[in-house]
Amino acid sequence: MDNWHTSRTGKRAGKRVGFPRFRSKRHRLSCRFSTGSFGLSESDRRHVQLPRIGLVRTHESTRKLARHVERGTARIRSATVSLQRGRWHVSFSVEITKTEPTPATTGGEVGVDLGVKHLAVLSTGESIANPKHLDAAQRELRRWQRQAARRQGPDKRTKQKPSNRWRTTQARIAKLHTAVANARRDGLHKLSTRLVAEFDTVVVEDLHVAGMVRNRRLARAVSDVGMGELRRQLDYTTTWSGRQLVVADRGYPSSKTCNDCGAVTAKLRLSERTFTCDHCGYRTDRDLNAARNLADLTSSPSCGATKNEPAGNPHKTSPAGSGYRHGKTPTQRAGANAA
Ligand SMILES: [Zn+2]
Repeated sequence: MDNWHTSRTGKRAGKRVGFPRFRSKRHRLSCRFSTGSFGLSESDRRHVQLPRIGLVRTHESTRKLARHVERGTARIRSATVSLQRGRWHVSFSVEITKTEPTPATTGGEVGVDLGVKHLAVLSTGESIANPKHLDAAQRELRRWQRQAARRQGPDKRTKQKPSNRWRTTQARIAKLHTAVANARRDGLHKLSTRLVAEFDTVVVEDLHVAGMVRNRRLARAVSDVGMGELRRQLDYTTTWSGRQLVVADRGYPSSKTCNDCGAVTAKLRLSERTFTCDHCGYRTDRDLNAARNLADLTSSPSCGATKNEPAGNPHKTSPAGSGYRHGKTPTQRAGANAA
């Protein structure tokens, strides 16, 4: 309601937010326990205890939470059991006393250029391949969608209820989509964890993911990469581990700027995979050039002195005062301005 109201009165930026639609709570099967005996099984790490239900085996190991409980650093406050995409999940609301780890400084910074061709290109020269999970599942997905088309689905006009056979197919489609999403998220978690472990500062572009998804030719590929999700993960992993995330301005021409001389090329088509500088003739891989430019945003002023002032100062677009670290330190900012 608040989003709708602020959008209507013009206080909220971005796309217009409509009036909230009614959503029934009935069909979401979930139940929260806050009293009674519940928690992890004490004998092994494969079972959870639920009130009235008893001991239930879990698919995943409960090791991580169990260790916290055994050490006395976690207190389980409630348990929620829910049915999500055909699987039962249990989630515990936990109070954890976490000792802030003192991050071991690695002294490095890395620019990360996200893309569709490669999942990411690092300024170190490494490129992480795009696993294209959805592409791989596309064949099977098409098969189930064909099957669904042959079966009796719902019809709003005639108030025809869907057949059980149609529902079975829909469950198969949902299961496949879940597998794709899980694989994608897993890969992104591994990448973000690695970046945070290996570098002090991670520099990314402020990508307009919602805008790219609006482009019909790009939408599927962009969604399959999960750039928005990687950004979201980096946001909190950097905070947790005491690292710095620098987000370059939307206007910063990371792919059009020459990493050698700093000149900005007027035009660079998306199909051009190699960057060639108009000014000095420097040639390199397009994405690598962009990643290096991003990494340079944080480098020392002596280095930046030979380069053009970027179109915008890098900044961190996190809500202020929420415990996030902010872009540049004052000394760095002074240096960049002097350049
Ligand atoms: Zn150049």
